This record gives sequence, C-alpha cells and structure tokens, in this order.
Amino acid sequence: MDAKVRVRFAPSPTGGLHLGGVRTVLFNYLFAKHNNGEFILRIEDTDQTRFVSGAEQYIQDTLAWCGLVPDESPLHGGPYGPYRQSERKAMYKEYADKLIEQGNAYYAFDTPEDLDAKRKEIPNFQYSLTHRMGMKNSLSLSKEVVDELLKNNTPYVIRIKVPENEEVSLEDVIRGHVSFDTNMVDDKVLLKADGMPTYHLAVVVDDHLMKITHAFRGEEWLPSAPVHVLLWKYLFGLDKMPKWAHLPLILKPDGNGKLSKRDGERLGFPVFAMDWFDPNTNNTTIGFKERGFLPEAFVNLLAMLGWNDGTDKEMYTMDELIAGFSLDRVHKGGAKFDYEKAKWFNAEWIKKMDNDKLAGLVQPFFDKEGIEVHDPAYLVKVIGLVKERCHLLPDFITQSSFYFKAPTEIDTSSIAPKWDAKKSDFFKALAKIYSSKIASGIITEPAVELEAAFKELVAKHELKAGELMLPFRIMLVGSKFGPGVFEIVEAIALKNTIERIEYSLQLLS
Ligand code: GLU
Repeated sequence: MDAKVRVRFAPSPTGGLHLGGVRTVLFNYLFAKHNNGEFILRIEDTDQTRFVSGAEQYIQDTLAWCGLVPDESPLHGGPYGPYRQSERKAMYKEYADKLIEQGNAYYAFDTPEDLDAKRKEIPNFQYSLTHRMGMKNSLSLSKEVVDELLKNNTPYVIRIKVPENEEVSLEDVIRGHVSFDTNMVDDKVLLKADGMPTYHLAVVVDDHLMKITHAFRGEEWLPSAPVHVLLWKYLFGLDKMPKWAHLPLILKPDGNGKLSKRDGERLGFPVFAMDWFDPNTNNTTIGFKERGFLPEAFVNLLAMLGWNDGTDKEMYTMDELIAGFSLDRVHKGGAKFDYEKAKWFNAEWIKKMDNDKLAGLVQPFFDKEGIEVHDPAYLVKVIGLVKERCHLLPDFITQSSFYFKAPTEIDTSSIAPKWDAKKSDFFKALAKIYSSKIASGIITEPAVELEAAFKELVAKHELKAGELMLPFRIMLVGSKFGPGVFEIVEAIALKNTIERIEYSLQLLS
C-alpha cells in the first residue's frame, strides 16, 4: 500500500497572507483530505533578518478563519515536531556535514565585503561553477589553509557544489517533465555562519523528516527546484523525493504578471486574506475578511481560481471541494483575478447562508458603525428581508440601517418637484390612521393589512397609489431603495412610521 498522503504548507512568516498563498494552502488541504491524508503547517523562519512579529499568528488565524485547520502545526503539535524551523536548528548540521563529506558541498569563507567587491567587479555575479574557483572556499584553497581557517573559527557558510553539465529534472504533477541545466544554477548557501540552515537545506531535510509525500507550492519556487532535487539526490535518494506540483500564479486583472498587494491598492480591492498590520511600517492592509467576505465564499472563489471539475458548476462547499478535487484539473496557466466575480461568489453565499448565522457575522459591522440592535430576533428578520441585495457584509449597513434608526438624510429633492397640498394632506391623514391603530392597541400589522388601509385612503383622497409610493419609501428609508414599502412599515412598526412621515412633512413644508 502507498504511504499515507502527507502535504505541507511551509510559509515564511514575513507578512500578510496573499490570495495566492491561501490558495496554496487550500489545494494542499483539499488534496490531503480527498486522499484521507494529513495536512501540516510548518513555519519556515530560518531567515531571522526577515522575522516579522505577529506574522505567524496571522497565518494561524487566517487558516482558522478559512476552516483549513492543519493536522500538525506549531499550535496543534504532532509526532514530527517542532514545526517551527528555528526550533529545529540543531537538526540540520549533520546533513550539511554529510554533503561536505560526500563532496557535494563546500565551506566558503568569503566575507560580505569580499562578495560586495566581486559583485562590483563582475556584472551579474553568481557564486557558481564559473566563479567559485576565484573565491575563498574549500575548493579553491588548499586543505592546510582550510583546516587552519576552521581551527581558528573563521566564520564560514556551507554551499552546495552544483555539478557541471548535468540535467536535473522533476516530474511536476501539473506541468509534467521539467528539466534544468545545472550550468545555470548557482551554488546556494545551505548553512549560514550562525549555524542556521537556509530555506533550501531546511525544506529538503524537513520534507524528508516529516515524511512529506507531495510538495505543492507556488510557481515562483520553480527556479529553486533544481537545488532541491540535487539535495534529495545527495541526501536521501530521488526515489524518496515527494511529488512536486508548482501551482500557477494568480494574475493581475489588467495586464500581465502576478497579482500584487500594490495592484489591490491601485484597483481598490483586498489581496490579503485578513487585515494585516505591519509592525515595521504601522500600516494596515485590508483583508477579505474585514471587507466583508464570508470564509465559505473566499474558499470557494479561491478554488475556482485555477481549478474546476470539468463542468460549469461554480458554487462549492468545502465538503464538495474535498470530494471533487483532483490535481489533474488544476490549470497550468495563471488565473486572472476578477474582483467583481469574487463579490458575486460572496453574494451567492450570503443568499445561501442561514439568517441566524449571518446575524452573528453582521453584528460586528453594526457595532463598528454604532448601530444598536436591541432585539437579536429583529436583526435576523431584517437580514432575511435585505440579504438578496447584499454582496459584502457591510452592505447590510447601507441596506438596512433604516430598520434600526430613522434616516438622517432624506432625499427630498426626489419628492419636491411633484409635491403638492393634496399629497401633504394625504400623508397627514395616513399618519392619523396609523396613530389611531396604535391608540386601539395595534402596534404593527401584517404588511397586507397596512397596504389595504393605505389604498383605501388613496381612493378616498382620489389620488393614485403609484404617485405616493415613492415619497412614502423616501420618508421611511431616506432614499429610493429597499424592499416592499409595507414590509418596511410592518418591520419598523407604526410609531416609527408616523415619526418618519411627520419629519419628512416638516422638511417638505
Ligand atoms: N518557505 C517557502 C515560502 O515562503 C516555502 C516554499 C515551499 O513550499 O517549498 O513560501
């Protein structure tokens, strides 16, 4: 039997999680769950110079929000921990030493100044087979000199010795056979002077130690793949190497290239999953969550950026995605991001979602806006009345604030041109009728009865209902939108209806 499927998402905690990053998580997760496998979160934090406080927590929060919960992670633990590479520091040296012993790696003693000088001297300098013999390392120096330098604790890094004139290849699950000419690959640093591994060594060692069977990552990592394949070959054997899949990029909606945070700022939409507060700049970048996306919709739209099941179906629950997911239906080419389409997904999910559940999600947006909800059941009812018109959760504020408080601005300019004394008398009479209902103990009535009372009065005043509906709506809502006028009257109750009629009559007099 094949080994249990084990996949990993291995982010470096350096900032907010981009759409593309979350989609990488999603495809890992779906593949694992489809195959009854395990999904691991490993934090690749070996580059301490890029450490950003809060970034790891942000990643964990984002995964939790999306419902992509890892089976093993720094938070959840697991049998192959620690799951933070900085805490695994001591494990990597033996592999670097093994590479040195085998002749697949070497010590390099060049100082940062030496490297700078070389970069100045040689345009596009790369530490590779063309230049390595002109540098200060255990290939160019004699054994005695090297031993002496090591004995004196001279700082060094360990670099991979990329072989000359070889073809390195891998079978990518999405792209098929991909090959690289080693003459184009540089001698990457594997172990740094402080004993910390670089990403290249750590990713291979950890994928091995954590028994990863499939490694899925963004296409931007493809240029690093030859180094990883060589390390697999030298350390563990190519037959042990995980299967690779380099996922296509998410592209800008306009023009070419990868969708960037800057594109989002330029075009006014989020690119990160959740708000990201950057402690280095004190700037917050808006996220899909805070913009008012439902996690179900976010996951659904991400899945459709680069995958489909071969039919026209677009709406998927997580369970449906797990059941239907297969890598052979992941596209090779990048997918253009379309924000309008993203909002369409959210609107569809809002329509599908239970009103009770939506109420819990809308409430924080109301709180932020200072709209008080006295009766949770009333909020649930209102949500049912307006959800068809909402794309994003804050749309519930614009679509329904008039249910909770009188509109502060009344679009009288849309009423005034056709306003006359007859209409004014009509609304005064309507307010009276509604007041008498309150006096008789009726606070509110079903919409149909309120409409019947209204129509009766229209006939009595010899007016046309059509001419009165728009002014009435504007008096209640503030402007020309919202559900049926009498549904609104029923919901806000007669007392509030009367107050709003009277307020508008004052403005129009
Ligand atoms: N640490 C890499 C990153 O930041 C992971 C690449 C990989 O999955 O191998 O995305």
